[in-house]
Amino acid sequence: MREKLQHFMVGRYGADQLGQFLLIAAIVSMVCSMLFRSSVCNLFAILLIVLSYYRMLSKNHSRRYSENMKYLKYSGKVSRFFRSKKQYLSQLKTYHIYRCPSCKQKIRIPRGKGKISISCPKCRTEFIKKS
Ligand SMILES: [Zn+2]
Repeated sequence: MREKLQHFMVGRYGADQLGQFLLIAAIVSMVCSMLFRSSVCNLFAILLIVLSYYRMLSKNHSRRYSENMKYLKYSGKVSRFFRSKKQYLSQLKTYHIYRCPSCKQKIRIPRGKGKISISCPKCRTEFIKKS
């Protein structure tokens, strides 16, 4: 039995990050379908499981690999986006962020210094803002 399974798995693609993501998404939609008694979520969960098994058992490695690379590229972009938003929000507590009126360069000014003249580090334009 074990040998049969090993023989069956020879040349198969196996698990990757996209596969993990699909299984997690399947679990989330299963929980949704139980919570809301939604058959759409249930169907979606089954689809995700079928898709992740299809990918794991696939013998088309290059295709699966490129799908995973696309997933990694996209998920990296999403997590970078949220990280930069989080960083921006934490900076807003201690800094004002202004844009230079002429070149639109973002300039970070510490809060609580009253009215100050700011000179743009990029184009040297001076403008006055409250900090
Ligand atoms: Zn400027």
